[in-house]
Amino acid sequence: MTESHLRLTPKESDILGLKRKLDLAKGIIEKGGRPSIVRSVCQISKASALQFHKEIHGHGPKAGLLPYDPDWITKSPENCLHASIYFNIFQKISRNTTACKGEIYLAAYTLYEQTLMDKPKILNINRAWHIGQQISMSYLCGMTCSRCHSTYVAIREFPDPYKFCPLCDATSDSTGRQKWKQLHTRPRIHRTKRKKKSHIETSLNKDDL
Ligand SMILES: [Zn+2]
Repeated sequence: MTESHLRLTPKESDILGLKRKLDLAKGIIEKGGRPSIVRSVCQISKASALQFHKEIHGHGPKAGLLPYDPDWITKSPENCLHASIYFNIFQKISRNTTACKGEIYLAAYTLYEQTLMDKPKILNINRAWHIGQQISMSYLCGMTCSRCHSTYVAIREFPDPYKFCPLCDATSDSTGRQKWKQLHTRPRIHRTKRKKKSHIETSLNKDDL
């Protein structure tokens, strides 16, 4: 990237060191992060986020709202597995660090990509941010499987028997596509209003996967 013409206000540069902020924004945008997320994570203005996106990619971002599906992790065992890999990493590197939340987010996503190597990255960086928000709101929680002992993410409000393990509760159909084993034998889940909790109640551990 050539020298940036980004203009940050003094207020913006106070929140985090300017270089750290630009490095963070650059890293997120390079991995496909949407300006709305960059703006939120780096606490920069909308105009700055848009301009930075243009400088890095040579064009503006796609129009439209950010796709958001709160129950994405339940849609397939693969979704749940990838979200679990990401958050096991996230939890591990969150301990004993002075990095800010945004830097942990980018570092965790980078490690997720490295863990997957040449395999498809089902979890994109924008979805990873949403999942982080869901964890901090306690919409998602960490579960430890009693069979394979892996730690995976699940929707907290679901009863425990419906918090499926992406390794033990998965099966493949004739096309090789992964599905949840239980879905055709168990009744539809009805959601109840959840209680908001202020702390993350999970103990995800990358080594368990
Ligand atoms: Zn399991």
